[in-house]
Amino acid sequence: MKCDVLVIGGGAAGLMCSMEAAKRGRSVIVLEHGKPGRKVLASGGGRSNFTNLNLSADNYLSENPDFPKSALAGLTPADIVRSLEIRGVLSEERENGQLFLKGRSRELLELLLGECRGSGAEIVAGIKVRSVQKKGGSFSVDTGKGRFDAGSLVVATGGLSCPELGATNLGHRIASQFGLRVTPLRPALVPFTFGPEELKRFGGLSGISLKASVSLGKNKNKNKKKSFLGDILFTHRGISGPAVLQASLYWAGGAVTIDLLPDIDIKGMFLNDSARSTGMHNYLSDLLPRRFALKWCEFFLSSGACKKPLRLHSARELERAAEGLHNWTFLPGGTEGFRTAEVTAGGVDTRELSSRTMECTKVPGLFFAGEVVDVTGQLGGYNLHWAWASGCAAGRYA
Ligand SMILES: Cc1cc2nc3c(=O)[nH]c(=O)nc-3n(C[C@H](O)[C@H](O)[C@H](O)COP(=O)(O)OP(=O)(O)OC[C@H]3O[C@@H](n4cnc5c(N)ncnc54)[C@H](O)[C@@H]3O)c2cc1C
Repeated sequence: MKCDVLVIGGGAAGLMCSMEAAKRGRSVIVLEHGKPGRKVLASGGGRSNFTNLNLSADNYLSENPDFPKSALAGLTPADIVRSLEIRGVLSEERENGQLFLKGRSRELLELLLGECRGSGAEIVAGIKVRSVQKKGGSFSVDTGKGRFDAGSLVVATGGLSCPELGATNLGHRIASQFGLRVTPLRPALVPFTFGPEELKRFGGLSGISLKASVSLGKNKNKNKKKSFLGDILFTHRGISGPAVLQASLYWAGGAVTIDLLPDIDIKGMFLNDSARSTGMHNYLSDLLPRRFALKWCEFFLSSGACKKPLRLHSARELERAAEGLHNWTFLPGGTEGFRTAEVTAGGVDTRELSSRTMECTKVPGLFFAGEVVDVTGQLGGYNLHWAWASGCAAGRYA
């Protein structure tokens, strides 16, 4: 089969790209080896956190930090909200500018699929791409079900996370085949696992969540320190929750520090209350979930200090307890890996691509869009937005 634009991957980026290219009158075929849009359906717990009102290039991690700017300027959160509203799909703002659908993600996916087909793009599902070749000015794609030829090839195969939702490394392999560098790939927006020591201490607290600030980097170097405020959640194997997932995007294997009482000057409170007869464990249970407070006292205070009334603690002991509560530092055993990661950090080196068109500078006609590219967003709608924006940029030129 022949067409102008062949898109590999029917996710957010591939569908957006095919819609945009088809609207320009290009003949478009999308090849998808599973069902299209499975991550769109799974996103935002079924309500798709599809963009963020606070969007800027600063919300993205890339070896080339300015790269996302052009594509993001070409499709803003307001553009997306407007085009959804015109089609009767309503959204709501939650904390930190996150926009979620009022309805279900399926509504968004069906709208996208309808727009793609309405514009003339053909979506072929259940077809796996085996290999790609460039012959003269066009690309030839071999699948289990025949050959497809096109002048433009858009690779929108996503990252490695969540293989059960269709993730493969095809896009990275195609990049390497054409001599493009792929930056190191790692799971991101992913829970940390505990090492043996922390697992022994906190493994039994699964299900407990509390507000905290999670930091990476040296405390003394404020410029290099990355901190994320939000909920943390204890799991059977380690910790998760929004603040931890955010931190995982920037984690390079070092220690993690958690401020368990980010909004409280606990040292000042201890000083004010140093005459009270309340046991330390009961005192902290007013500020933290009780089961956690008890475990924390058990492991971080000297023996006997757990139930000891505040008034019997020395100033030194109170200071040490305050320090421990604001700076719980540990070395994660690792992360939960690609199986549960929301995204893949790293990807096709953006220095190989035009930031305006997503086309490879050294392979004309070859485009990369979405998560397969080395642009990874923070938690909060930024990754879907990147998929829409980069897909749209590619679709305007492919
Ligand atoms: C559970 C979950 C929840 C998420 N929630 C959010 C959220 O609320 N907000 C947000 O911004 N981000 C969220 N994300 C991240 C976001 O979904 C992705 O970053 C985004 O979908 C990436 O879009 P993409 O089109 O680049 O890749 P994908 O959506 O991964 O699409 C790639 C497509 O290519 C297909 N494919 C792969 N290999 C082949 C092959 N060999 N042949 C043919 N087809 C192939 C895949 O089946 C897939 O359909 C979530 C991710 C997960 C896993």
